[in-house]
Amino acid sequence: MAVMEKKAGASLPVRFRRGVRFVRTRLRELRMIIKALASTKHPILVHIIPMRQCNLACAYCNEYDDVSKPVPLEEMKRRLDILAEMGTSIITISGGEPLMHPDLDEIIRHIRLHGMIAGMITNGFFLNRERIERLNAAGLEHLQISIDNVMPDEVSKKSLKTLDGKLEWLSQYAIFQVNINSVLGSGVKDPEDALKIAHRAVELGFTSTVGIIHDNNGQLKPLGTRELEIFEEIMTLGKRSFSRFNDFQHNVARGKEHNWRCRSGSRYLYICENGLVHWCSQQRGYPGIALDQYTPEMRHREYFTEKFCGPRCTVSCVQQVGILDNWRDPQPLKPMPMAPPAAQPELVQIGSARSDS
Ligand code: SF4
Ligand code: SF4
Repeated sequence: MAVMEKKAGASLPVRFRRGVRFVRTRLRELRMIIKALASTKHPILVHIIPMRQCNLACAYCNEYDDVSKPVPLEEMKRRLDILAEMGTSIITISGGEPLMHPDLDEIIRHIRLHGMIAGMITNGFFLNRERIERLNAAGLEHLQISIDNVMPDEVSKKSLKTLDGKLEWLSQYAIFQVNINSVLGSGVKDPEDALKIAHRAVELGFTSTVGIIHDNNGQLKPLGTRELEIFEEIMTLGKRSFSRFNDFQHNVARGKEHNWRCRSGSRYLYICENGLVHWCSQQRGYPGIALDQYTPEMRHREYFTEKFCGPRCTVSCVQQVGILDNWRDPQPLKPMPMAPPAAQPELVQIGSARSDS
Protein backbone atom coordinates (compact mmCIF):
# COMPACT_ATOMS: atom_id res chain seq x y z
CA MET A 1 0.00 0.00 0.00
CA ALA A 2 1.01 3.57 -0.63
CA VAL A 3 1.93 4.47 2.94
CA MET A 4 4.58 1.76 3.08
CA GLU A 5 6.29 2.18 -0.27
CA LYS A 6 8.85 4.83 0.61
CA LYS A 7 12.03 4.05 2.48
CA ALA A 8 13.90 6.81 4.23
CA GLY A 9 17.56 6.92 5.18
CA ALA A 10 19.65 9.11 7.44
CA SER A 11 22.68 11.11 6.28
CA LEU A 12 26.18 10.11 7.40
CA PRO A 13 26.42 12.86 10.08
CA VAL A 14 23.02 11.85 11.51
CA ARG A 15 24.06 8.18 11.54
CA PHE A 16 27.29 9.10 13.34
CA ARG A 17 25.51 11.21 15.99
CA ARG A 18 22.87 8.48 16.38
CA GLY A 19 25.60 5.89 16.95
CA VAL A 20 27.30 8.05 19.58
CA ARG A 21 24.03 8.68 21.44
CA PHE A 22 23.09 4.98 21.19
CA VAL A 23 26.36 3.86 22.80
CA ARG A 24 26.12 6.52 25.52
CA THR A 25 22.50 5.61 26.31
CA ARG A 26 23.31 1.88 26.40
CA LEU A 27 26.16 2.53 28.84
CA ARG A 28 23.86 4.63 31.01
CA GLU A 29 21.23 1.85 30.88
CA LEU A 30 23.86 -0.66 31.97
CA ARG A 31 24.73 1.59 34.89
CA MET A 32 21.00 1.89 35.68
CA ILE A 33 20.68 -1.94 35.84
CA ILE A 34 23.76 -2.33 38.08
CA LYS A 35 22.49 0.40 40.41
CA ALA A 36 19.01 -1.20 40.53
CA LEU A 37 20.43 -4.62 41.37
CA ALA A 38 22.71 -3.16 44.05
CA SER A 39 20.01 -1.19 45.88
CA THR A 40 16.21 -1.25 46.14
CA LYS A 41 15.96 2.20 47.71
CA HIS A 42 15.49 4.40 44.62
CA PRO A 43 12.89 4.62 41.80
CA ILE A 44 14.07 3.03 38.55
CA LEU A 45 11.42 4.53 36.26
CA VAL A 46 9.10 7.50 36.72
CA HIS A 47 6.36 8.67 34.36
CA ILE A 48 5.68 12.39 34.57
CA ILE A 49 2.74 14.24 33.01
CA PRO A 50 3.53 17.85 32.07
CA MET A 51 0.42 18.13 29.87
CA ARG A 52 -2.89 16.30 30.34
CA GLN A 53 -4.43 17.87 27.27
CA CYS A 54 -4.30 15.93 24.00
CA ASN A 55 -4.95 16.89 20.39
CA LEU A 56 -6.62 13.51 19.78
CA ALA A 57 -9.50 11.70 21.44
CA CYS A 58 -8.90 7.97 21.06
CA ALA A 59 -12.08 6.13 22.05
CA TYR A 60 -10.37 3.74 24.50
CA CYS A 61 -8.22 6.34 26.29
CA ASN A 62 -8.73 7.48 29.90
CA GLU A 63 -5.57 9.58 30.10
CA TYR A 64 -6.39 12.89 28.44
CA ASP A 65 -8.66 15.91 28.50
CA ASP A 66 -9.12 18.80 26.08
CA VAL A 67 -9.00 21.69 28.53
CA SER A 68 -6.12 21.48 30.99
CA LYS A 69 -3.19 23.91 30.86
CA PRO A 70 0.49 22.88 30.71
CA VAL A 71 2.19 22.46 34.08
CA PRO A 72 4.50 25.51 34.43
CA LEU A 73 8.17 24.86 33.68
CA GLU A 74 9.36 25.90 37.14
CA GLU A 75 6.98 23.42 38.75
CA MET A 76 8.14 20.64 36.42
CA LYS A 77 11.75 21.46 37.30
CA ARG A 78 10.92 21.35 41.00
CA ARG A 79 9.37 17.89 40.61
CA LEU A 80 12.36 16.68 38.60
CA ASP A 81 14.73 17.99 41.29
CA ILE A 82 12.84 15.91 43.90
CA LEU A 83 12.95 12.82 41.67
CA ALA A 84 16.69 13.28 41.07
CA GLU A 85 17.20 13.62 44.83
CA MET A 86 15.43 10.25 45.26
CA GLY A 87 18.02 8.72 42.89
CA THR A 88 15.62 8.09 39.95
CA SER A 89 17.29 6.51 36.90
CA ILE A 90 14.80 7.00 34.03
CA ILE A 91 12.13 9.66 33.43
CA THR A 92 9.51 9.07 30.74
CA ILE A 93 7.44 12.09 29.76
CA SER A 94 3.87 11.13 28.99
CA GLY A 95 0.45 12.72 28.73
CA GLY A 96 -1.97 13.74 27.26
CA GLU A 97 0.29 14.86 24.47
CA PRO A 98 3.69 16.10 25.72
CA LEU A 99 4.58 17.78 22.40
CA MET A 100 1.84 20.33 23.18
CA HIS A 101 3.84 21.58 26.19
CA PRO A 102 5.56 24.88 25.26
CA ASP A 103 8.65 24.14 27.39
CA LEU A 104 9.11 20.47 26.57
CA ASP A 105 12.73 20.94 25.43
CA GLU A 106 13.64 22.59 28.75
CA ILE A 107 11.99 19.75 30.66
CA ILE A 108 14.11 17.22 28.73
CA ARG A 109 17.25 19.32 29.33
CA HIS A 110 16.51 19.40 33.04
CA ILE A 111 16.16 15.59 33.14
CA ARG A 112 19.54 15.22 31.42
CA LEU A 113 21.12 17.90 33.63
CA HIS A 114 20.46 15.57 36.57
CA GLY A 115 22.02 12.60 34.71
CA MET A 116 18.70 10.77 34.36
CA ILE A 117 17.74 8.93 31.15
CA ALA A 118 15.12 10.92 29.18
CA GLY A 119 12.27 9.24 27.28
CA MET A 120 8.92 10.33 25.88
CA ILE A 121 5.64 8.76 24.75
CA THR A 122 3.86 10.78 22.07
CA ASN A 123 1.19 10.35 19.43
CA GLY A 124 3.69 11.91 17.00
CA PHE A 125 1.23 14.25 15.27
CA PHE A 126 3.31 17.38 15.99
CA LEU A 127 6.61 15.96 14.77
CA ASN A 128 8.39 17.62 11.89
CA ARG A 129 12.05 18.01 11.00
CA GLU A 130 12.56 21.12 13.11
CA ARG A 131 10.81 19.56 16.14
CA ILE A 132 12.88 16.37 15.84
CA GLU A 133 16.11 18.38 15.70
CA ARG A 134 15.07 20.32 18.80
CA LEU A 135 14.46 17.02 20.62
CA ASN A 136 17.93 15.86 19.47
CA ALA A 137 19.47 19.03 20.86
CA ALA A 138 17.58 18.80 24.16
CA GLY A 139 19.07 15.33 24.75
CA LEU A 140 16.08 13.00 24.30
CA GLU A 141 17.18 9.35 24.39
CA HIS A 142 14.00 7.30 23.79
CA LEU A 143 10.75 8.04 21.99
CA GLN A 144 7.74 5.75 21.67
CA ILE A 145 4.78 6.12 19.33
CA SER A 146 1.81 3.79 19.61
CA ILE A 147 0.11 3.08 16.27
CA ASP A 148 -3.30 1.44 16.43
CA ASN A 149 -4.25 0.66 12.84
CA VAL A 150 -3.17 1.00 9.21
CA MET A 151 -6.06 3.28 8.25
CA PRO A 152 -7.65 5.77 10.70
CA ASP A 153 -11.12 4.88 12.00
CA GLU A 154 -13.68 6.12 14.54
CA VAL A 155 -11.71 4.57 17.44
CA SER A 156 -8.25 5.90 16.68
CA LYS A 157 -6.57 8.30 14.29
CA LYS A 158 -3.14 6.98 15.26
CA SER A 159 -2.75 5.09 12.02
CA LEU A 160 0.18 4.16 9.84
CA LYS A 161 -1.35 6.15 6.99
CA THR A 162 -1.51 9.31 9.10
CA LEU A 163 1.88 8.89 10.73
CA ASP A 164 4.08 7.32 8.08
CA GLY A 165 5.51 10.68 6.96
CA LYS A 166 6.46 11.48 10.58
CA LEU A 167 8.13 8.08 10.89
CA GLU A 168 10.19 8.84 7.79
CA TRP A 169 11.34 12.13 9.30
CA LEU A 170 12.30 10.31 12.48
CA SER A 171 14.23 7.78 10.42
CA GLN A 172 16.08 10.58 8.66
CA TYR A 173 16.73 13.07 11.47
CA ALA A 174 16.29 11.53 14.94
CA ILE A 175 19.45 10.61 16.81
CA PHE A 176 17.44 9.18 19.73
CA GLN A 177 16.05 5.63 19.77
CA VAL A 178 12.53 5.17 18.43
CA ASN A 179 10.12 2.37 19.36
CA ILE A 180 6.84 1.75 17.58
CA ASN A 181 4.17 -0.02 19.61
CA SER A 182 1.28 -1.77 17.87
CA VAL A 183 -1.75 -3.50 19.45
CA LEU A 184 -3.55 -6.85 19.31
CA GLY A 185 -6.61 -8.24 21.07
CA SER A 186 -10.15 -7.24 21.90
CA GLY A 187 -11.53 -4.43 19.73
CA VAL A 188 -8.69 -4.50 17.18
CA LYS A 189 -10.46 -4.89 13.85
CA ASP A 190 -7.66 -6.43 11.80
CA PRO A 191 -4.76 -8.18 13.57
CA GLU A 192 -2.76 -8.08 10.33
CA ASP A 193 -2.45 -4.30 10.91
CA ALA A 194 -0.12 -4.91 13.85
CA LEU A 195 2.18 -6.96 11.66
CA LYS A 196 2.26 -4.32 8.92
CA ILE A 197 3.05 -1.63 11.50
CA ALA A 198 5.81 -3.72 13.07
CA HIS A 199 7.41 -4.51 9.70
CA ARG A 200 7.32 -0.85 8.72
CA ALA A 201 8.97 0.07 12.04
CA VAL A 202 11.81 -2.39 11.48
CA GLU A 203 12.18 -1.29 7.84
CA LEU A 204 12.78 2.25 9.09
CA GLY A 205 15.36 1.10 11.64
CA PHE A 206 13.18 1.33 14.77
CA THR A 207 12.45 -1.23 17.45
CA SER A 208 8.95 -2.63 17.63
CA THR A 209 6.75 -3.86 20.49
CA VAL A 210 3.16 -5.04 20.74
CA GLY A 211 0.54 -4.40 23.44
CA ILE A 212 -2.43 -6.68 24.12
CA ILE A 213 -5.93 -5.39 24.87
CA HIS A 214 -8.42 -7.44 26.89
CA ASP A 215 -12.16 -7.82 26.67
CA ASN A 216 -14.58 -5.55 28.47
CA ASN A 217 -15.31 -8.06 31.25
CA GLY A 218 -11.81 -7.65 32.59
CA GLN A 219 -11.01 -11.27 31.84
CA LEU A 220 -7.75 -12.48 30.47
CA LYS A 221 -8.67 -13.94 27.13
CA PRO A 222 -6.21 -15.88 24.97
CA LEU A 223 -5.46 -14.46 21.54
CA GLY A 224 -6.77 -16.41 18.54
CA THR A 225 -4.44 -18.66 16.52
CA ARG A 226 -3.56 -16.07 13.88
CA GLU A 227 -3.22 -13.31 16.49
CA LEU A 228 -0.82 -15.50 18.47
CA GLU A 229 1.28 -16.11 15.35
CA ILE A 230 1.39 -12.36 14.73
CA PHE A 231 2.26 -11.71 18.36
CA GLU A 232 5.20 -14.14 18.28
CA GLU A 233 6.44 -12.71 14.98
CA ILE A 234 6.38 -9.16 16.34
CA MET A 235 8.17 -10.27 19.52
CA THR A 236 10.88 -11.74 17.29
CA LEU A 237 11.04 -8.59 15.18
CA GLY A 238 11.39 -6.59 18.40
CA LYS A 239 14.43 -8.58 19.51
CA ARG A 240 16.50 -5.44 19.98
CA SER A 241 13.98 -4.17 22.51
CA PHE A 242 14.08 -4.77 26.27
CA SER A 243 10.56 -6.23 26.04
CA ARG A 244 11.94 -9.54 24.80
CA PHE A 245 12.88 -10.31 28.41
CA ASN A 246 9.26 -9.87 29.43
CA ASP A 247 7.70 -13.34 29.92
CA PHE A 248 4.57 -11.62 31.11
CA GLN A 249 3.56 -10.60 27.60
CA HIS A 250 3.66 -14.23 26.49
CA ASN A 251 1.38 -15.17 29.42
CA VAL A 252 -1.06 -12.36 28.63
CA ALA A 253 -1.19 -13.46 24.97
CA ARG A 254 -2.24 -16.93 26.12
CA GLY A 255 -4.77 -15.65 28.65
CA LYS A 256 -2.75 -16.75 31.68
CA GLU A 257 -2.43 -14.80 34.91
CA HIS A 258 1.06 -13.74 35.81
CA ASN A 259 2.94 -14.28 39.04
CA TRP A 260 5.13 -11.24 39.64
CA ARG A 261 5.78 -8.48 42.17
CA CYS A 262 4.57 -5.08 41.13
CA ARG A 263 6.84 -2.48 42.78
CA SER A 264 4.78 0.55 41.78
CA GLY A 265 4.83 3.32 44.36
CA SER A 266 8.49 2.50 44.95
CA ARG A 267 10.59 1.40 41.98
CA TYR A 268 8.06 2.84 39.56
CA LEU A 269 6.13 6.09 40.14
CA TYR A 270 3.43 7.82 38.13
CA ILE A 271 3.34 11.56 38.80
CA CYS A 272 0.17 13.17 37.50
CA GLU A 273 -0.18 16.75 36.27
CA ASN A 274 -1.11 17.81 39.82
CA GLY A 275 2.16 16.49 41.21
CA LEU A 276 0.58 13.53 43.04
CA VAL A 277 2.17 10.08 43.20
CA HIS A 278 0.05 7.18 41.90
CA TRP A 279 0.74 3.47 41.48
CA CYS A 280 0.42 3.73 37.68
CA SER A 281 -1.70 5.27 34.93
CA GLN A 282 -4.43 2.66 35.47
CA GLN A 283 -4.46 2.92 39.28
CA ARG A 284 -4.65 6.67 39.65
CA GLY A 285 -5.92 7.75 43.05
CA TYR A 286 -3.66 5.55 45.15
CA PRO A 287 -1.61 6.53 47.10
CA GLY A 288 -2.40 10.05 45.78
CA ILE A 289 0.22 11.78 47.93
CA ALA A 290 2.04 14.94 46.81
CA LEU A 291 5.52 14.16 45.49
CA ASP A 292 7.21 16.54 47.93
CA GLN A 293 5.55 14.71 50.85
CA TYR A 294 6.29 11.22 49.54
CA THR A 295 8.89 9.94 51.98
CA PRO A 296 11.48 7.14 51.66
CA GLU A 297 9.44 5.23 54.27
CA MET A 298 6.35 5.40 52.01
CA ARG A 299 8.37 4.10 49.05
CA HIS A 300 9.80 1.38 51.24
CA ARG A 301 6.31 0.32 52.31
CA GLU A 302 5.04 0.21 48.72
CA TYR A 303 8.03 -1.92 47.74
CA PHE A 304 6.77 -4.61 50.14
CA THR A 305 3.06 -4.10 49.31
CA GLU A 306 1.32 -6.71 47.17
CA LYS A 307 -0.82 -5.16 44.42
CA PHE A 308 -4.24 -6.84 44.06
CA CYS A 309 -4.28 -5.99 40.35
CA GLY A 310 -0.91 -7.69 39.63
CA PRO A 311 -2.00 -11.02 38.09
CA ARG A 312 -4.11 -9.36 35.39
CA CYS A 313 -2.02 -6.25 34.86
CA THR A 314 -1.08 -5.22 31.32
CA VAL A 315 1.11 -2.20 32.11
CA SER A 316 4.24 -3.48 30.43
CA CYS A 317 6.68 -0.76 31.54
CA VAL A 318 6.05 -1.55 35.23
CA GLN A 319 6.50 -5.25 34.54
CA GLN A 320 9.84 -4.57 32.89
CA VAL A 321 10.94 -2.62 35.95
CA GLY A 322 9.67 -5.53 38.09
CA ILE A 323 12.08 -7.95 36.43
CA LEU A 324 14.94 -6.36 38.34
CA ASP A 325 13.32 -7.23 41.72
CA ASN A 326 11.00 -10.19 41.04
CA TRP A 327 13.62 -12.62 42.29
CA ARG A 328 13.87 -11.04 45.76
CA ASP A 329 11.87 -9.57 48.63
CA PRO A 330 8.34 -11.08 48.84
CA GLN A 331 5.48 -8.63 49.41
CA PRO A 332 3.70 -9.44 52.71
CA LEU A 333 2.00 -6.01 53.12
CA LYS A 334 -1.48 -4.98 51.96
CA PRO A 335 -2.29 -1.49 50.62
CA MET A 336 -3.14 0.86 53.48
CA PRO A 337 -6.30 2.72 52.41
CA MET A 338 -7.10 -0.18 50.14
CA ALA A 339 -9.66 0.19 47.37
CA PRO A 340 -12.27 -2.58 47.42
CA PRO A 341 -11.56 -5.37 44.91
CA ALA A 342 -14.90 -4.56 43.23
CA ALA A 343 -13.23 -1.43 41.82
CA GLN A 344 -10.61 -3.52 40.06
CA PRO A 345 -12.10 -3.99 36.57
CA GLU A 346 -12.43 -0.27 35.94
CA LEU A 347 -8.95 0.46 37.28
CA VAL A 348 -6.80 -2.07 35.50
CA GLN A 349 -5.86 -1.48 31.91
CA ILE A 350 -8.52 -3.69 30.47
CA GLY A 351 -11.23 -3.19 27.89
CA SER A 352 -11.91 0.45 27.22
CA ALA A 353 -9.10 1.66 29.50
CA ARG A 354 -5.66 1.40 28.03
CA SER A 355 -2.33 3.12 28.36
CA ASP A 356 0.42 3.64 25.80
CA SER A 357 3.16 2.45 28.09
S1 SF4 B 1 -4.18 7.42 23.58
FE1 SF4 B 1 -2.65 9.06 23.50
S2 SF4 B 1 -3.16 10.14 21.60
FE2 SF4 B 1 -4.98 8.96 22.13
S3 SF4 B 1 -6.25 10.39 23.34
FE3 SF4 B 1 -4.99 9.17 24.77
S4 SF4 B 1 -3.23 10.48 25.15
FE4 SF4 B 1 -4.17 11.23 23.29
S1 SF4 C 1 -2.24 -2.06 37.27
FE1 SF4 C 1 -0.29 -3.18 37.11
S2 SF4 C 1 1.29 -1.61 37.27
FE2 SF4 C 1 -0.60 -0.71 38.03
S3 SF4 C 1 -0.50 -1.06 40.23
FE3 SF4 C 1 -1.67 -2.75 39.35
S4 SF4 C 1 -0.14 -4.35 39.02
FE4 SF4 C 1 0.98 -2.44 39.32
